[in-house]
Amino acid sequence: MKKGSSKNNRPSKICPVCERPFEWRKAWRNCWDEVVYCSERCRRRKSKVLDSSQ
Ligand SMILES: [Zn+2]
Repeated sequence: MKKGSSKNNRPSKICPVCERPFEWRKAWRNCWDEVVYCSERCRRRKSKVLDSSQ
């Protein structure tokens, strides 16, 4: 009998913008290594910060 807990180990990262951990999502299965931000909103927020320095 297995309790099915062996595959319950999804990778996670910490978003540098909101500093919250986020879990692997199916949508990222092909590009997880390139994912840095937890959401599109955080990605835009980050680029906005970079743009404002010019
Ligand atoms: Zn975030």
